[in-house]
Amino acid sequence: MQRYSGLTLLRHVLTGHRHWKPLWRTPEPKPHYDVIIIGGGGHGLATAYYLAARHGIRRVAVLEKGWLGGGNSGRNTQVTRSNYFYPVSTRFFDRSLQLYERLGKELNFNVMLSQRGVLNVATSLHELELMRRWANAIALNGVDAQLLTPQEVRRAVPRINLNARVPIVGGFIQRRAGISRHDAVNWAFARGADALGVDLIQNCEVTSFTQSDSRVTGVVTTRGVLSADRIAIVASGHSSELARRAGFRLPLTSMTLQAMVTEPVKPVLDTVLVSPSVHVYVSQSDRGELVIGAGADVYHSYMQRGSLATTEAAITALLELFPSFGRLKLMRQWAGVVDVSPDTSPIIGKTPVENLYISCGWGTGGYKAIPAGGETLAYTIAHDAPHPLIESFALSRFTTGALVDEGAAAGVAH
Ligand SMILES: Cc1cc2nc3c(=O)[nH]c(=O)nc-3n(C[C@H](O)[C@H](O)[C@H](O)COP(=O)(O)OP(=O)(O)OC[C@H]3O[C@@H](n4cnc5c(N)ncnc54)[C@H](O)[C@@H]3O)c2cc1C
Repeated sequence: MQRYSGLTLLRHVLTGHRHWKPLWRTPEPKPHYDVIIIGGGGHGLATAYYLAARHGIRRVAVLEKGWLGGGNSGRNTQVTRSNYFYPVSTRFFDRSLQLYERLGKELNFNVMLSQRGVLNVATSLHELELMRRWANAIALNGVDAQLLTPQEVRRAVPRINLNARVPIVGGFIQRRAGISRHDAVNWAFARGADALGVDLIQNCEVTSFTQSDSRVTGVVTTRGVLSADRIAIVASGHSSELARRAGFRLPLTSMTLQAMVTEPVKPVLDTVLVSPSVHVYVSQSDRGELVIGAGADVYHSYMQRGSLATTEAAITALLELFPSFGRLKLMRQWAGVVDVSPDTSPIIGKTPVENLYISCGWGTGGYKAIPAGGETLAYTIAHDAPHPLIESFALSRFTTGALVDEGAAAGVAH
């Protein structure tokens, strides 16, 4: 693997940038693998990387029906935080944030992590009380969280309109949270996995499974039948369809979640601002665009574009908080198919099929979970036993009733 450094950059500058190598190979599928991962999003790629890097399992293929990172992992608003409510969630998501903090170094790829803080604002005393409870729970779990007065909110976000139709009465911030660059995260894991021998196979859709007794023996794909000792479904909104073809059901709702960006402007916002009740969140990218996150289109859909009504609602909410942004032009709008579970926590681990594993239900908040999701699923596949950090997120919780209801910890209501 070509190492990236200032010296490498200088060498390529001097040779007119003509000799950069592709980030990964384009191999033909082999007839058999130790592990096949279905889905080349962040979670699939990270799982492949950690299987090879931590467990020495290198005969691995990632099968992606489109292009790597073309699903939700390349469509999200990049918010990276660990301010969840329940201890099991905080532990898992903070592990992920810790991995993000050293990801650039580990993968020799700048993932542009910017720990600029995520600030949630409250628009009623009742909401502020709930935030106080939330912040206290997070702090008790050992993660940073600080309540802010309206004046402190204004200092952090000078452009905000505190006296909007619904006045802002305070908020809370996680300062270690922030954003990173989603494409870079996907590409970094892809490059790292490829360098360790993982085959990344694009334009290869899995249509069904080959099975014998209670085991899966392989996958039927648009590029032929491939066999494998172990298989993982990591296909976000399409996971429930794949599970059905393997013979079991997943409690997932697939729906559209959209985001949009304005034209680029000079720095005007240096934190991530979330308003759960006005119902929008916004940050400013390194290119200067304001990245705006909306609520989900709350009906079943497999379309990667959102409805106009939701776009309009998000923009209305944004202008309520930042009237001065009304002069900006909206440049692009897009959406992804998110896989929302009943308690909005992930489903990760073993399945009713013996050698078939799953990582899904990441819904509207799984970008921040990519490193820890990959690390723990790789462990689970390698040991055929759940990693301690994900025991609470097993599929079986929907029969035992031990749900981890993190609905209130989502950026905006979904
Ligand atoms: C608009 C938007 C904003 C978001 N904002 C945030 C945020 O700010 N912070 C955050 O933490 N999370 C956010 N999320 C959620 C986050 O993006 C996802 O939870 C996360 O990316 C899921 O990663 P994944 O690898 O599981 O899925 P994906 O990245 O969707 O990857 C799954 C892949 O599987 C492939 N696939 C599907 N079916 C098949 C098949 N049959 N055969 C082969 N391949 C298949 C798909 O093509 C896709 O590439 C957002 C999502 C959206 C849509």
